[in-house]
Amino acid sequence: MENKAYRGHVLALPFPIQGHINPLLQFSKHLVSKGLKATLATTRFIHNTMQPQSSSSLQFDTISDGYDEGGFAQAESIHASLNRMETIGSKTLADLIIKNKNTANPIDCIIYDPFLPWALEVAKKFGIFGAAFFTQTCTVNFIYHHVHHGLLKLPITSTPISIPGLPVLELDDMPSFISVPGSYPAYFEMVLNQFSSTDKADAVLVNTFYELEPEAVDSMSKVCQVLPIGPTIPSFYLDKRLENDNDYGLNLLLSDSFVCNNWLNTKPEGSVIYLSFGSMASLSNKQMEELAFALKGSKFHFLWVVMASEEAKLPKKFVEEIGNKGLVVQWCSQLEVLSNKAIGCFLTHCGWNSTLEALSLGVPMVGVPQWTDQTTTAKYVQDVWKVGVRAKVCENGIVEREEIEFCIKEVMESERGKDFQKNAKKWRELAIKAVSEGGNSDKNIDEFVSKFVNS
Ligand code: UDP
Repeated sequence: MENKAYRGHVLALPFPIQGHINPLLQFSKHLVSKGLKATLATTRFIHNTMQPQSSSSLQFDTISDGYDEGGFAQAESIHASLNRMETIGSKTLADLIIKNKNTANPIDCIIYDPFLPWALEVAKKFGIFGAAFFTQTCTVNFIYHHVHHGLLKLPITSTPISIPGLPVLELDDMPSFISVPGSYPAYFEMVLNQFSSTDKADAVLVNTFYELEPEAVDSMSKVCQVLPIGPTIPSFYLDKRLENDNDYGLNLLLSDSFVCNNWLNTKPEGSVIYLSFGSMASLSNKQMEELAFALKGSKFHFLWVVMASEEAKLPKKFVEEIGNKGLVVQWCSQLEVLSNKAIGCFLTHCGWNSTLEALSLGVPMVGVPQWTDQTTTAKYVQDVWKVGVRAKVCENGIVEREEIEFCIKEVMESERGKDFQKNAKKWRELAIKAVSEGGNSDKNIDEFVSKFVNS
């Protein structure tokens, strides 16, 4: 029997992939620090494989996406998996609400990932407060909002593209679903559908902070009141207000921190390039080869995350040949790595979590975006936040070794590189300020909580 008096009970429902679980999980911990009870609902498949342990700071529970035994891998197509998730997810989310109904802490608020817009309908059916939690930049959300409402017509026939609050954008600065018409139609429909019901949501939260994209937040606030609440990074790396909060806490892949730390700790300050393409990486063999040759040819040390599914794409004997110059791991604790003094630059796919983590830890970047919102984020890394460069892609769609080497040198040792470092330090300070007591994001979290809690 629970006897702790909570101010309310929130249920957080992320889209079940690492880059969407991390921010919602972290935001939930913030809400716990504000006196709320928070439960994060993962799929049964994730729960059974990861067995996350509920603690005083967070509870875990489950819904089903219809793939309890083998996860997404079981799905016949993206479209089928999204449909199945909607049907079975709606039903099992309702079950979860009912299960909590006659307890001391019934669910007062559902914070849902707008990749799962049906969660709002379930919340409304039970008369529960429903908040959308966007996991991409406000800029990208606003672009999709424009497309969804027919304010930006596709295909785009004239450039540059002007959207209020956004810098002038070229076609290849747009999310890939727009710049490459017809690519991933099911995912494109999903990102546009995020706006199918935001007008009915009781709150719209975005994992960003105001200072990063003030004009985009202001513009989007004219169509729906947006509350930037980020960056959702474990407190240890920012304001240190939450005790023992130094990891997101639900890693779908295992990392070997010991190996990474030991290796990094033997390297001079600012001497290592860290490379990762996130949790969904699938690079072409040619791209992997170009990266491998660039790293071998550069004079810098490197730590490269190559997921098990990508390993066969490395040139033969690469790992043996690089010796102590580089370390290749299947996964790492990215925050731990980025905060190590040895890291001088992050060669990243510009996934939003990775970018926000680099900005929050003051690490300059080389952007090698692959798809979805990464292209737009890479544009901001180079031209708006001025914390790095975006690598140029050849006509064959590959970033070639000479370009990679050039970009690395630009960040690691050029005059521009010094500016990137200065700017990165500035963004880190602003990120800390935003989440610290009285900062913009902290105030927005308080405002959000006050919307559904009485005292
Ligand atoms: N990450 C990690 N270890 C790694 C690579 C990535 O912990 O070796 C984490 C990273 O810190 C981030 C998430 O995985 O929080 C990736 O999210 P992002 O939005 O950057 O990319 P996605 O995986 O969605 O493409």
